[in-house]
Amino acid sequence: MTLPALFLSHGAPTLPLTDTPARSFLAELGRTLPRPKAILVVSAHWETDKPTVNAVVTNDTIHDFYGFPRPLYAMRYPAPGSASLAADVVALLKDAGLETGIDGRRGLDHGAWVPLSLIYPAADIPVVQLSIQTQRGPDYHLKLGRALAPLRDKDVLIIGSGSYTHDLSEFRGHDVNDPAPAWVNMFADWFDERLQGNRIDDLLAYRKLAPYGAKNHPTEEHLLPIYVALGAAGEAPKVERLHVSSTYSILRMDVYAFGTKGEVGLKSAA
Ligand code: ZN
Repeated sequence: MTLPALFLSHGAPTLPLTDTPARSFLAELGRTLPRPKAILVVSAHWETDKPTVNAVVTNDTIHDFYGFPRPLYAMRYPAPGSASLAADVVALLKDAGLETGIDGRRGLDHGAWVPLSLIYPAADIPVVQLSIQTQRGPDYHLKLGRALAPLRDKDVLIIGSGSYTHDLSEFRGHDVNDPAPAWVNMFADWFDERLQGNRIDDLLAYRKLAPYGAKNHPTEEHLLPIYVALGAAGEAPKVERLHVSSTYSILRMDVYAFGTKGEVGLKSAA
């Protein structure tokens, strides 16, 4: 079985507690996806100077946010870690010329555990996280993803967890189900067209080419995980948009699956 790589938008940390189309979609996704042997999450919320994987026996749940409702701080996602998947990641990135560190203590940040608590609520599949290097931009993260592609043949589900749009300066004053404004949707439409058309060069230059590119991503960390997932599907990826919605007006919650052309896609594999 070769699994697709996923990009998902994790939204606000309150995602598991709020009734939204994205929450319903993610809760359903775990029932449609084939069950992976292990999960590798590349989250916007772990930024380091060089790639780093965590290798622990059981993942701690990191509540890396402030001022949210108390029930959120009581949530735990004690998925096992995987020293062997961490070692595989280190070896693949070494082959690609990237020196990778191992963190023997860190657990899962909310970019990982919030969506996983909906997709695989039993927390019984081993999870490893890999950090991003925000300062190195889209091209680097595409290459990072390409180096990880062989993991898909080993029943590892690669998930890039970020946000399709993420201008938090516009967050205040919006209700959870407020519709997205034009400047958010124009960017999202542009990005989707380029993904569907395999226009990788355009995607790498989104800050110059996309309408409101820098406006929707004042900093890049929430978009970079999509390049890792895209890269993990190889040079000419098959792209499936699995979900479209928005929350708090400015956060598009889109989810994508990236696979190899001719290979079984997510829907047919399920
Ligand atoms: Zn986030």
